[in-house]
Amino acid sequence: MALRLTGLTREELTEQMVQWGEKPYRAVQVWSWVYAKLASSVEEMTDVSKTFRARLTDELTPWLPRAVSHRVSADGTEKWLLACDDGVVTETVYIPEPGRGTVCVSSQAGCSLACPFCRTGTLPLRRNLTTAEIVEQVLFVRSTLATRGLRVTNVVLMGMGEPLYNLEAVTRAVRIIMDGNGLAIGCRKLTLSTSGVVNRMEEAGKNLNVNLAISLHSVRDGVRDQLVPINRKFNLAALRRAALAWPLRGRGRVTWEYVLLDGVNDSEQDARELVQWLKGIPSKVNLLGFNPWPGAPYTPSSRETMLRFQEIVANSGLVTIIRDSRGADVGAACGQLAGGTDSDASSPEMNRNA
Ligand code: SAH
Ligand code: SF4
Repeated sequence: MALRLTGLTREELTEQMVQWGEKPYRAVQVWSWVYAKLASSVEEMTDVSKTFRARLTDELTPWLPRAVSHRVSADGTEKWLLACDDGVVTETVYIPEPGRGTVCVSSQAGCSLACPFCRTGTLPLRRNLTTAEIVEQVLFVRSTLATRGLRVTNVVLMGMGEPLYNLEAVTRAVRIIMDGNGLAIGCRKLTLSTSGVVNRMEEAGKNLNVNLAISLHSVRDGVRDQLVPINRKFNLAALRRAALAWPLRGRGRVTWEYVLLDGVNDSEQDARELVQWLKGIPSKVNLLGFNPWPGAPYTPSSRETMLRFQEIVANSGLVTIIRDSRGADVGAACGQLAGGTDSDASSPEMNRNA
């Protein structure tokens, strides 16, 4: 038993079948059992011959990860810690909204970038997640929710870590997640968020047919140097050029994320400068309320300040939404993910693969 199915693209699975002396269509069968029919074991693959099922049972490792904790917020948001083989855990969040359900996926365990308002940034980077570990987060949530009649319609790469620092695994995972015979999440339903790793954006734009979100948070280099330290390496002018070069492929706009921090980046002047800076880039603006965590060095802007900021940006003609915080009571909101270093260990266990 050695093969991890979820790390393979459909083409690679097809090659594997041929290597085993099987017909290529076997790959389509297995792929659709795992990703579309959400089978949790080889025994469920009833249109596959018994002998081939025996082989698959021998060769394949389990494709659904083990949840070491599961918490449900009062607003319906759910967070799981999923165990990796080496003891690392990934955090995965499900956000239900009317008419859609979004899975927020981690790309790294920890993060090397240390943005001071982000709890993940206080953790060291443990390692990049593998393609399989990224894919399995989506598969796990979809399988778990299907039993409750809930749907997964959107995927955002906005969990722990900087996806562009794990570009190869992320690119492969995106291909698997988008595959029309499997999880079939369309390109308009998939969004990658980056803190602005400018030197990887060109390659990402070529290989990834997804929506782009960029964590901006300030259009003043001095302020952004503090909030998003990678700005010291790739400043706002470089970020702007990279955003303009992103292939939008008719999909419209770059999403700019802007977390409003009391007295730091939330003045009316900040809003006006943001509007100026975005001129010429097809954009929409997501204003995020700051989600506090123990020891965080910032406080959220008042609702009044947020609404005033939104009004100024929206008056310039830009689509501007205030993204309401979800799952904050269970540490599942943006910037609260801490890789199980919070009180998760005491929460009820949930393990559908046991
Ligand atoms: N590393 C990537 C993706 C993960 S962070 C990035 O930085 O874009 C996902 C989003 O959550 C980013 O926009 C980030 O700025 C935001 N965020 C981080 N900490 C936050 C907090 N405490 N409150 C609100 N948003 C936060
Ligand atoms: Fe890393 Fe993004 Fe958090 Fe910054 S905001 S520390 S890049 S996860």
